[in-house]
Amino acid sequence: MVIIKAENLSKVYGKNENKVIALDNIELEVIKGEFVAIVGASGSGKSTLLHQIGGVDKPTNGKVIIDNEDIYKLDEESLAVFRRRKIGIMFQAFNLIPVLSVEENIKLPALLDNKKADEGYFMDLVKTLGLADRLNHLPSELSGGQQQRVALARALINKPAIILADEPTGNLDSETSKEIIAMLKLSIRKYNQTAIVITHDISIAENADRIIKIKDGKVVK
Ligand code: ADP
Ligand code: MG
Repeated sequence: MVIIKAENLSKVYGKNENKVIALDNIELEVIKGEFVAIVGASGSGKSTLLHQIGGVDKPTNGKVIIDNEDIYKLDEESLAVFRRRKIGIMFQAFNLIPVLSVEENIKLPALLDNKKADEGYFMDLVKTLGLADRLNHLPSELSGGQQQRVALARALINKPAIILADEPTGNLDSETSKEIIAMLKLSIRKYNQTAIVITHDISIAENADRIIKIKDGKVVK
């Protein structure tokens, strides 16, 4: 079953001499349960693609269909709710809330939905990610690698059907990266999730079911 579909997807930033075609007619289908890695040079459009698929940034042209929902046909509020329930997204810039603690940041998606986070799962996540002794810290008191792990935990906490992660191991040493990939894979299999992960990390790409290469806003391989 196709769970993610991008049709004729384009994104253009700026106007006239500042115009940048970040995505150029992307066609993409991802099957439920698939683990897809996206690779490509810096500036090739990887983050832009992830944001369009994740419902956070409207495409200039084309459609994104998730679980049979044409997501940019939804009004803003419905899209926010849809995204929160279905998609766990980890941004390249982490986007943690500076005034919330590590624990509050991780549990935020559950909180926003008036749900209680699964405590057992929360403890599992923070232990695997080495955050158990940092729960009351603020993001500013953490290293880049630790902030990255908080962002990943927040993406996973609701056990979303779809996980989108932008360079989840970019700041981490290879040992920690391996553990995080193992955890991600376990999560995908256990909860029947679908994942798209942008990476330069060969060990992530090797673990993926499929590798998609982006160049100049197009899928080349
Ligand atoms: P990648 O993640 O592969 O490094 P991005 O998707 O971030 O690439 O960027 C693709 C292209 O779009 C780049 O040329 C970048 O400069 C441009 N771009 C990305 N975001 C914006 C923005 N908000 N405004 C203008 N240009 C942007
Ligand atoms: Mg990027």
